[in-house]
Amino acid sequence: MNINKEVEEKLKKVNLLISDVDGVLTDGSIYIGAGNVELKKFSVEDGAGVALAKVAGLKIAFLSGRYSPATDIRAKELKIEDVYNGMLNKIPAYEELKQKYNLEDSEIAYIGDGLIDLPVMEKSGAPLSVRNAYLPVKKAAVYVTDKNGGSGALREAVDLILKAKGVYEEAIKRLTKKVIETSSG
Ligand SMILES: [Mg+2]
Repeated sequence: MNINKEVEEKLKKVNLLISDVDGVLTDGSIYIGAGNVELKKFSVEDGAGVALAKVAGLKIAFLSGRYSPATDIRAKELKIEDVYNGMLNKIPAYEELKQKYNLEDSEIAYIGDGLIDLPVMEKSGAPLSVRNAYLPVKKAAVYVTDKNGGSGALREAVDLILKAKGVYEEAIKRLTKKVIETSSG
């Protein structure tokens, strides 16, 4: 996880991290079973990343091109307020979030893996991609995660942003304290 000064400056400004779902929060696989059952595998590491972002005041949103009930269920579990599910054109959702939180493009990071992510990545001040992203997407990113999609790539992006902002250590402390307090009733 080595980044240069220029990338660090971009990440320092980020207040909202928008994540694609298929291929970023998952490995891109969709398990289809009889009776229209659809399953996806999410990483608990990313769940911890969302929790860490939350205590640090970094907003997280999910923006998926392909509609899937599993995405809504996972987002609900992680208490993600902003979920766009089934938006092939991602620009309107990006603009809506930007307006809702009164942000500049420079304050928005976007992590993706596929071609449909490129238009929003071009707008975002800090476009990121996962290691196993499509090559043009990796080229459009200011940082490519060491992790593949579905294996903690979002967590890595959150860590990176919080470290650039200089709030990582404090966030870890606060999250640990919160977990202890919650579990002790
Ligand atoms: Mg994708």
